[in-house]
Amino acid sequence: FAPWEDPNAKPLIQFQNVTKRFGDFTAIDDLTVDIFEQEFFALLGPSGCGKTTMMRMLAGFETPTEGQILLAGQDIGAVPPNKRATNMMFQSYALFPHLSIWENIAFGLKRDKMPKDQIGERVEEMLRLTRLEKFARRKPHQISGGQRQRVALARSLAKAPKLLLLDEPLGALDKKLRQETQFELMDIQETTGTTFVIVTHDQEEAMTVASRVAVMDHGQIVQVATPDVIYEAPNSTYVADFIGDVNLIAGKADPQGDKLHLHWADGQPALVGSPLAGITKGQDLHYAIRPEKVSISAEKPADAANAIQGEVHDIAYLGNISTYHVQLPGGQIIKAQAANNRRISRRAFTWEDKVWLSWTDTAGVFLER
Ligand code: ATP
Repeated sequence: FAPWEDPNAKPLIQFQNVTKRFGDFTAIDDLTVDIFEQEFFALLGPSGCGKTTMMRMLAGFETPTEGQILLAGQDIGAVPPNKRATNMMFQSYALFPHLSIWENIAFGLKRDKMPKDQIGERVEEMLRLTRLEKFARRKPHQISGGQRQRVALARSLAKAPKLLLLDEPLGALDKKLRQETQFELMDIQETTGTTFVIVTHDQEEAMTVASRVAVMDHGQIVQVATPDVIYEAPNSTYVADFIGDVNLIAGKADPQGDKLHLHWADGQPALVGSPLAGITKGQDLHYAIRPEKVSISAEKPADAANAIQGEVHDIAYLGNISTYHVQLPGGQIIKAQAANNRRISRRAFTWEDKVWLSWTDTAGVFLER
């Protein structure tokens, strides 16, 4: 039972109708959301949508113009950053260059006047947690970028915050190291049980690490759900389009019994899918379907709910799979993915092949336009 599905679970963080204005610009717009203990919560959205502003309000660097932010039930509006049970992890370049790794991690604890023996224990624990024991005596410039990132993490977890804020924590790392570090972050989050809130513009990263993802647009959260729900059941064209690759087909609704048909282009067969509540005949809709849900074949499949003929126009070779851009007689392009068969040729189809695209009636979702 996930805490967000449990009506009795108490949220760690509550944004209650929070608005943040800078002058007459509204950066956060009447936003309400609960974040639970032990969550790895991701804020995802395009540049300028308000992700960092939300983090800065959580950390105490900004105060809401309207509304409240509660931490464990207490309004934290008037609590200064250093008195909050929150901590923000800064990029690794915020490490002190003249201090050893050990001293960098101990810094905040010394400043808080923690007894010496306790500091020693805590630093050792953090070094073990982030697998940095061997590097304790080195200076930041004597370790790699990925290791520095782990020092920054160790330092921000040393004070055992209830909530750790990570603003683009892996932005400086190359793709491979970034992916490895994502798994380390997940392990560390699980081991410590600390609630993590991460800001990222990288949707793959959000989908990998997060228990739930909040997709933001213009200072509002437009959908908050587990990664699979965000991907499989986006609640709007905006979310479908923002996350992953998607075919968006515009047309007019035609409800027929327990199925919804979509008339979308002259001369094309109507698309068939599961109905959408409250849809009326003739309403403008989008049909959203992921390329990997579209099958591509040489022959017309016998029993597919949806089947359309087209011609291969472009191919993106991705190793294990290829993405085919198939042009329909009306000029529209639909993307389909298929596995590459290594034994025969590296692609199942080639340019200008006449192909059939098909999918089941539950493969895509209808969305309001
Ligand atoms: P990015 O991914 O580019 O960091 P973001 O989603 O984190 O973007 P924010 O930094 O939260 O976005 O900014 C949201 C909006 O608020 C932006 O349009 C930004 O210009 C504006 N903004 C942020 N801080 C201030 C400020 N101190 N004064 C005026 N406007 C601000």
